[in-house]
Amino acid sequence: MTSYRDLLQRTKSEIAEIDATGASALLDNGAGPVLVDVRERDEWVEGHIPGAIHIPRGYLESRIEATVPDRSRQIVLYCASGNRSAFAAKTLEDLGYEHVTSLAGGFTDWKRNGHPFVVPRALDDTQRKRYSRHLLIPEVGEEGQLKLLDSRMLLIGAGGLGSPASLYLAAAGVGTLGIVDDDAVDETNLQRQIVHSLERLGEPKAESAKRTIEALNPDVEVKVFKERLTSENIDRILAEGWDVIVDGADNFPTRYLVNDASVWHGIPVVHGSIFRFEGQATVFKPGEGPCYRCLFPQPPPPELAPSCAEGGVLGVLPGIVGSIQANEAIKLALGVGDPLVGRLLLFDALETTFTEIALRRDPGCPVCGESPTITEYVDYVEFCQGGHTHVIS
Ligand SMILES: [Zn+2]
Repeated sequence: MTSYRDLLQRTKSEIAEIDATGASALLDNGAGPVLVDVRERDEWVEGHIPGAIHIPRGYLESRIEATVPDRSRQIVLYCASGNRSAFAAKTLEDLGYEHVTSLAGGFTDWKRNGHPFVVPRALDDTQRKRYSRHLLIPEVGEEGQLKLLDSRMLLIGAGGLGSPASLYLAAAGVGTLGIVDDDAVDETNLQRQIVHSLERLGEPKAESAKRTIEALNPDVEVKVFKERLTSENIDRILAEGWDVIVDGADNFPTRYLVNDASVWHGIPVVHGSIFRFEGQATVFKPGEGPCYRCLFPQPPPPELAPSCAEGGVLGVLPGIVGSIQANEAIKLALGVGDPLVGRLLLFDALETTFTEIALRRDPGCPVCGESPTITEYVDYVEFCQGGHTHVIS
């Protein structure tokens, strides 16, 4: 019968080992080896060698081919003391890897010899539970969830579009949400603005949204801007540093301000708008696609804008469009998928159809074009009594 000790000794005699000093020299070399940490997650989060990839021993066989497809690449494996990595090295050799080495003495010796290590950030237990359905998706995972928690998104408006967008972004764990809204909660809002409620009538919408969000997810810090965006305050608000702007504005002057500012500040805008049964969404990403002014260089003349009385909207429509905006914002923050850059998505709620229109950047655009003619903010005047144009939020 073979004892553990015998098996370990035999395995070690069949594989290559390297000590901490040798491994350190090897890693400093530009074309260094792939360093794989085969310990368990709780060991990894307490500290690991910089640049290491974490594949727990139990997943090594199933994950190594995706991580290191080239079997001729040099691989250095390590664990805590050099035993688990010895067995792991043997396994990789069996899988056809040609240059596998185990770090003798493991991470313990590495640290003891004064070599550098890093302690990674990690989700705490409550967060692992809360975001467990994100952690199961490879495109998100713990790294992506930490990205979301680090991300900062600015919502323009806590109305029809801002309601679902803010709720989903907060639930997803977007760490900082800014909300710009100078309105108060009104009875006519509740048909679609689901972040508010009857008991908040008369309260500032930004505060009402903050209360709902904080009750939903304490990981989210909400910054409230109880003001209407103007040329005077937009630079101050954007200077707080935002990764994404979610535009749920209900009027043209704000739309144009947000557009011009986003181009000048280099912040992508997830745009949404709704009218009756029709919704649209797109992403304006500075430098990569068109901006709002590439499509509409100037606001429409007042006589062409539908009158305020016509500005109705089916209550569920902003729920759909605002959710699409949240989806795009999360993709931008994670850097995954194909965002709606240069694509206008149209949704018809009556027919239940989605249509996509390709949008092009206009080299003659007055803001993002080759020779811009607009270089300062323009405060357009509301041309609809009551402060609403045909875009309803
Ligand atoms: Zn443009």
